[in-house]
Amino acid sequence: SSYFPSWVMHCTERTFVAIKPDGVHRGLIGRTIARLEDKGYSLVALKLLKPSRTLAESHYESLRSKPFFGDLVSFITSGPVCAMVWEGKDVIGQVRKLIGNTDPLTCAPGTIRGDFGIDIGRNIIHGSDSISSAEREIQLWFHSEELVDWNPSLHEWVYEKV
Ligand code: GDP
Ligand code: MG
Repeated sequence: SSYFPSWVMHCTERTFVAIKPDGVHRGLIGRTIARLEDKGYSLVALKLLKPSRTLAESHYESLRSKPFFGDLVSFITSGPVCAMVWEGKDVIGQVRKLIGNTDPLTCAPGTIRGDFGIDIGRNIIHGSDSISSAEREIQLWFHSEELVDWNPSLHEWVYEKV
């Protein structure tokens, strides 16, 4: 958006992140947000909700044929889910790295799933896996007026001017 100085225009990639019900129940919202803030990324939207079945099924529609799909949808709809949009340079790929592999037992220590999870069906957090899925998921979970355009003052200390 034109609100950003030209030198941060390349830092406006966005991703959808959700702390799943296990992460919320275990009190991991604050620490998860802290990790993404610590990296230098900026929060664009945030809400706590109990997702509808329609929302959960459409979020995970590519997994509809999997044997665990029913359990996955029941789990996600049990809520609460902390749904967020984060912004910054390469945020989609970097958040996937910060989260770790799908199976927490294969994650490196230091990743969110590696530090806090054990079972694949209780892996704490979701992050979009590509530009197209990020766009789809942000639209699915948020109305456009819920996305906040702001100019974080830390940008000038996180990004080198180009
Ligand atoms: P992600 O992008 O790393 O979250 O992984 P996927 O998109 O492949 O799967 C979405 C979610 O479905 C995962 O985060 C897990 O919660 C769940 N899931 C994936 N594979 C399995 C599985 O083999 N068994 C079970 N129980 N859940 C799975
Ligand atoms: Mg996925």
